[in-house]
Amino acid sequence: MKIKKQKINRLVWLEIKNGDDLPDAITGYCQKNNIKAGLVLAVGALKNAKVSFYDQVKRKYLVKAINRPLELLSCLGNVSLRDGRPFIHAHITVADKAGRVYGGHLEPGSIVFACECAIMEATGELLNRKFDKLTGLNLWDFGK
Ligand code: ZN
Repeated sequence: MKIKKQKINRLVWLEIKNGDDLPDAITGYCQKNNIKAGLVLAVGALKNAKVSFYDQVKRKYLVKAINRPLELLSCLGNVSLRDGRPFIHAHITVADKAGRVYGGHLEPGSIVFACECAIMEATGELLNRKFDKLTGLNLWDFGK
């Protein structure tokens, strides 16, 4: 098993406003501030969500829109590099008024009602994404 080592530098709380697109806001912060590595954590509420499921046979993301108010129970993700630029990979779990829970890979089009979001910025050995033939995904390249 190969590893990469990083050090958590600081915790940054992001102001994400009502009406903002959640993944775009996080990606925008990281790209603007050149955050190349880190952890993303958030809770709050969404006006609507867009999540996807990776079909491992068809090798494509199936996108699902949940067009109603939702509690954002959890958003957990990471920051690494793709094509040399900060790239966010995050998953969310949301609940509707009836308590039904949905989740998946966070997609643009997930609109914030209110959100408390933190990024634990890290530095050290960088993780770069590279196309992986076996899965069809852009995965972390740990080298040969
Ligand atoms: Zn994912």
